[in-house]
Amino acid sequence: MNFEKLSKRINELENKVRQKLPHDHPQIICALKAVEELGEVSDLLVRKWVGSRKGKELGAEEFKQRLGEELSDVIIPLIQIATFYGIDLETAIEEKISVHFKNWD
Ligand SMILES: [Mg+2]
Repeated sequence: MNFEKLSKRINELENKVRQKLPHDHPQIICALKAVEELGEVSDLLVRKWVGSRKGKELGAEEFKQRLGEELSDVIIPLIQIATFYGIDLETAIEEKISVHFKNWD
C-alpha cells in the first residue's frame, strides 16, 4: 500500500466533501466517523459469528466484501486525521510495529 498516494486521493475527496459540507473541525468529524464505522465492523462480525435477530446470514463472499468496505470506512477518516496533522502514517505504523515486536521478544 502506498500511503502517500492514498493520502493524496483521500485529501482530494475531503476537499470535495468540504465544499458541500463545510465545517471548522474536520479532524473531529473524521474521528467520530471512524468510531461510527468501527461499530459497523463490529456489527458485521457479530452477525457473522453470533447471528442476527433478523435471521439474515451473510455468505462468505458477501461478508468478505462488506468487511473490506467497512474496514476501509474506518481507515479513510484515520488517514484524513493523519494528513490534517501532517503525520507520516506509514512511518508511524512501521515504528509502532517495531515497538510491538520488541514488546513480544
Ligand atoms: Mg460503513
